[in-house]
Amino acid sequence: MSFPPQPPQPYNGQPPYGQPNSGQPHQSQPHQSQPQHSQPQHSQPQQYEHSQQYAAPQPHQQQQSYGRASRMNDSNLRLVWVYPDLLSTYGDRGNALVVERRARQRGLGVQRIDVRSDQAVPTSGDIYLIGGGEDRPQRLAAERLRADTGLVRAAENGAIIFSVCAGYQILGHEFINDLGEREPGLGLLDVWSTRGEGGRCVGDVLAEVDPRLGLPQLTGFENHQGVTHLGQGVAPLATVQTGRGNGTGDGTEGAWRDTVFGTYLHGPVMARNPAVADMLIKLALDVNALPPADTTWYDALRTERINATRQPA
Ligand code: GLN
Repeated sequence: MSFPPQPPQPYNGQPPYGQPNSGQPHQSQPHQSQPQHSQPQHSQPQQYEHSQQYAAPQPHQQQQSYGRASRMNDSNLRLVWVYPDLLSTYGDRGNALVVERRARQRGLGVQRIDVRSDQAVPTSGDIYLIGGGEDRPQRLAAERLRADTGLVRAAENGAIIFSVCAGYQILGHEFINDLGEREPGLGLLDVWSTRGEGGRCVGDVLAEVDPRLGLPQLTGFENHQGVTHLGQGVAPLATVQTGRGNGTGDGTEGAWRDTVFGTYLHGPVMARNPAVADMLIKLALDVNALPPADTTWYDALRTERINATRQPA
């Protein structure tokens, strides 16, 4: 597995996902003392050979396909919001609204699919969003997602997955559930979560994103007891300037590999950081730029929260 690429390259305007790979299946290396749970083998991410500027469609072109046809099934972006009935704390629902809005601002059609926990997760989505949750709903969600297998199969197909807090922990190898037991996750990210010994990590966060992702500073809100440890198969999503992030004391926040992302940031994080939503849309379209879209209200929120975090009341 070539991810994360070594050494890190500065973002060059290309999606950082098409790195040559060794052809070896993803081998995660969790902490020695943590036995691995069943981990699906990832198919290798597709090589992105046709990065291009996305042009907003003209009305008569609405039915054309955009970007990489292998990911975009038709002209609609298929946006799957996983388990809104279990995982949507602190307004994480807003992430689905923002991704949908940012896509529509570019003239894209969006098919939003809200998948309750008693429904099957479709495997043909382009972008999957999974939010945070309290400890018990988090366990229930993990049980259902393991049994359903739809999200794992979607990941094997190269789907884009963005997860927050409880959702991030579920994407890892394991976490500590509400019963104090080790609960298997989906193994889609090479991370595993323990329960922090100190107080909960609560408060506003400022973080600098992995430069390969070409994103501005992240602002968000965290509230978690879990501490997430990163294995060799992921890179930190960001480095905290303010806040705790993964809670390991090393300043890392979140994790990512290929098209799978995890963060502890609520806010909702897309409302405070619309560039994250735009990044997911670019990945889905296999383009490295989108037409500009108004960010007036996002910018006002960003500025207000960044200033408040730098100068707490
Ligand atoms: N229950 C998890 C924890 O406390 C996740 C919390 C959340 O999603 N906000 O670590």
